[in-house]
Amino acid sequence: MPATPTRTDVLVVGAGPAGASAAAWAARSGRDVVLADAAVFPRDKTCGDGLTPRAVEELDRLGLGDWVRGHTVNQGLRAHGFGQTLHLRWPGGTLPDHGSAVPRTELDARIRQVALESGATGVEGAKAVDARVEGGRVRAVTFRRGEETFDIECERLVVADGVRSGLGKVLGREWHQDTVYAVAGRCYVDSDRSDDPWISSHLELRGESGEALPGYGWIFPLGGGQVNVGVGTLATTKRPASVAIKPLMKHYTDERRAEFGLSGEQRMPTSALLPMGGAVSGVAGANWALVGDAAACVNPLNGEGIDYGLETGRLLAAHLDDDLLTAWPALLREEYGDAFSVARRLAAIFTVPKTLAALGPVGMRSDWLMTLALRWMGNLVTDEDRDRSARIWRWAGRRSINLDARPPFT
Ligand SMILES: Cc1cc2nc3c(=O)[nH]c(=O)nc-3n(C[C@H](O)[C@H](O)[C@H](O)COP(=O)(O)OP(=O)(O)OC[C@H]3O[C@@H](n4cnc5c(N)ncnc54)[C@H](O)[C@@H]3O)c2cc1C
Repeated sequence: MPATPTRTDVLVVGAGPAGASAAAWAARSGRDVVLADAAVFPRDKTCGDGLTPRAVEELDRLGLGDWVRGHTVNQGLRAHGFGQTLHLRWPGGTLPDHGSAVPRTELDARIRQVALESGATGVEGAKAVDARVEGGRVRAVTFRRGEETFDIECERLVVADGVRSGLGKVLGREWHQDTVYAVAGRCYVDSDRSDDPWISSHLELRGESGEALPGYGWIFPLGGGQVNVGVGTLATTKRPASVAIKPLMKHYTDERRAEFGLSGEQRMPTSALLPMGGAVSGVAGANWALVGDAAACVNPLNGEGIDYGLETGRLLAAHLDDDLLTAWPALLREEYGDAFSVARRLAAIFTVPKTLAALGPVGMRSDWLMTLALRWMGNLVTDEDRDRSARIWRWAGRRSINLDARPPFT
């Protein structure tokens, strides 16, 4: 084993999509980078494994376009619910017109490999437990590996340690659970429809007694005879999720066995909480910043965050010389503030009992409305998009953030 470095220019803690992307882009710009993770890769991550067109675009930038398209390619979302089934194509525009899905065990190891090939030094099995802060700057991070404790000194620190962000907490990160968040679970199931060119979502999610739940279920084809099946529900401190996720996921799976050719037992069922919509404060200090899930960069309307992880990693790598204390929250707000604000406002409305049951049937009656909803729910709108629905989405975002008592990332 090569010796663990004792110092570096850029230290990245967490080698999921966000950290690996930050490490790859920082190394590509000629910096000395160490990419550390508590796990040894390949490692699993609780996820639906779905890659939106935004994620595919980022994987293209990293040079993984052919690799990801060699796994699965999907052309859009098959939305089920309220007696309807709609086929909604990814909108395209300035983003790719297709998505994909790759098990995270494989995807994350491959993206991390790109970071190492770009010049970053990998450190595995090393859990960050503390930080040495002097004069408002992080000087070193303390790691534990088995019985051993060691420091890595750094000029700049990228905190990409995921949902719980233990290192973020040490540095003052706070997650605000009064803003909408998700509780979600996933498992793998054999299926004879694993090459389906559509990902499927059931927008009418019902519990075992038939009660309507705020959230949705999904079946994402992975090729090779298996699909990722999962359920996610929305919650806030005021309206906490009262449902047990794993039994709900089993019920959802069993209900879909015939239609989706599902067979055998659920494999690797796991669940997790999901902070969303930038509902954290303390996202940066003078020479450090949070990216990906650590910064709650997850879309409140569909729970996807791989794309935002990859994007925030790349964005931060381009701004490492800024005074991050003020620059990073401002950049995050500029990129995502409006969209996250309106998305979490809408998601919170769905946590009110009966809202979905009232609005769902109306929406599902219209292809046009649901195509619009897919684009908005997926935040598949870029600054370059000039069409009317993109302009409405941006306008709603600006209005929403002005009404926020605590805007995203504050
Ligand atoms: C059930 C579920 C389904 C989801 N489905 C989708 C989906 O289909 N599509 C989508 O885009 N998103 C989905 N998401 C969200 C997505 O999984 C996350 O947004 C994404 O993984 C964020 O990447 P990240 O790099 O920020 O964090 P992670 O992928 O969690 O990586 C964090 C890394 O940090 C490491 N780490 C943690 N603590 C430490 C420490 N103290 N020291 C060192 N290393 C540490 C971990 O080992 C891990 O490797 C889903 C989430 C859930 C819970």
